[in-house]
Amino acid sequence: MSALHEPLRFDARALLAAERPAKVTLVGAGPGDPELLTLKAARALREAQVVLYDHLVGCEVLDFVPKQAHRIYVGKQSGCHTLSQEAIIELMLRLAHSGRPVLRLKGGDPFIFGRGGEEAQALAQAGVPFEVIPGISAAQGVAASAGIPLTHRDHACTLVMTTGHLRGEGDARTLDLDWALLARPRQTVVIYMGVATLPVICEQLIRHGLAPDTPAAVVERATRPDQRTVDGTLETLPALARIHEVKAPALIVIGAVAQLHAVLAPAAAHAAACCNV
Ligand code: SAH
Repeated sequence: MSALHEPLRFDARALLAAERPAKVTLVGAGPGDPELLTLKAARALREAQVVLYDHLVGCEVLDFVPKQAHRIYVGKQSGCHTLSQEAIIELMLRLAHSGRPVLRLKGGDPFIFGRGGEEAQALAQAGVPFEVIPGISAAQGVAASAGIPLTHRDHACTLVMTTGHLRGEGDARTLDLDWALLARPRQTVVIYMGVATLPVICEQLIRHGLAPDTPAAVVERATRPDQRTVDGTLETLPALARIHEVKAPALIVIGAVAQLHAVLAPAAAHAAACCNV
């Protein structure tokens, strides 16, 4: 007799679920504006049953999720983590093994500074089926909404994306990036999670050969109604960001393309929120 016909000895649903874990979908929520969701992400959100979502996911994106679905906030902000990364992975695996399809919703793109790679590895290792739905990353959101093309034939033929985040509680001066690589000419450098370490980043890039008057901008809350752009140069940007109290989430763009903000920023946003030098 099959396990399904022995209700007294087996919880058949649990058994089936354990044999065949449900699917986990890692979904990129984009940089904030809900209209920047892909069609595929919007469909997955509308069909979701359990959603584990991060700090940077906008509420309007969550509005796509059906009312009856479970929404579980697992956000991590610098110095304030609801759950550790290990605990998030464990929760995701537990839910999948209990037979509930999980939608893991992350800001921007899951595979760009979103630890989606680690989550996908854990799923693969545990034999849990998964799918990744890409999202528009903050760099692309910033490029369009602040008028800063990331590459440009006249200015930059290489794009480097890096993080200014310090592991642990270290002093910003211990930020250990490949400064020589970042200071190469005709290149755009985009820095995620770099507000706290901006002075060190600018100082090191000048020390490694970039001109102090290299254009540089920081774009806060890109694609959201309260987006702000502060632009200056490697020399002036740290002080300007401090004066204007720039806060995360913000992206730093360094290189000649940053000066195009002044001419390409959508006119209304420019007038309302730009703080030029
Ligand atoms: N996976 C995300 C990045 C997560 S790391 C992506 O692909 O965009 C978080 C960092 O992304 C923030 O500290 C900030 O540097 C950047 N970021 C995310 N959303 C942003 C936004 N709307 N405007 C500016 N920067 C943003």
